[in-house]
Amino acid sequence: MLRVVCASANPHKVAEIFELIGGTLDLVARPTDLIETKETELTLVGNARLKAVAVCQATGLPALADDTGLEVDALNGAPGVLTARFAGVNATDAENRSKLLDELKDKPRSARFRTIALLLFADGREIVAQGVCEGSIATSQRGERGFGYDAVFIPSLGNGRTFAEMSIEEKHLLSHRGLAFRSLAKSLKELPTS
Ligand code: IMP
Repeated sequence: MLRVVCASANPHKVAEIFELIGGTLDLVARPTDLIETKETELTLVGNARLKAVAVCQATGLPALADDTGLEVDALNGAPGVLTARFAGVNATDAENRSKLLDELKDKPRSARFRTIALLLFADGREIVAQGVCEGSIATSQRGERGFGYDAVFIPSLGNGRTFAEMSIEEKHLLSHRGLAFRSLAKSLKELPTS
């Protein structure tokens, strides 16, 4: 199996990524002494690439990075690439969720999560995959599981439940990250071996 370093430092995301693609790749954790990459690009692909390049250069191994954005139609696609910093640079997940609920009072609630998964090889080749999960924003927080915006995001195919009300297996079947990493695994299998 191809040995690859996971570029994410977020323990919630890392756990999901290991579950989703650990059977396809020999995934190793990001070195703990590596400083966090600043996400300065204006696109999800750009930020995923920044994170992958930093880890690949530091380790000499292929690196797997991902970047996710929540796109809310009533906010013209925001927060998008700024999803982690919606309520401010050092905002907590709880602050981001509260701000979203405040901003959407009396507004249409359609939204989607988009994830880019990017595998960068030391020779510069890369595989980029995307996963999109359509849904809506709940009127209040529901559920105890998950992280980030899970308690306010209702995927269209989830029988009205938020991600935070689902088991992790159910979330993986529907989620942006599940779709992106399954697509990446498929592309990896189709990669010419030479
Ligand atoms: P990142 O780019 O993957 O670090 O995520 C950007 C923002 O989206 C952060 O605020 C995350 O908490 C949030 N986020 C990413 N993935 C998920 C998810 O699966 N559920 C809920 N929130 C997420």
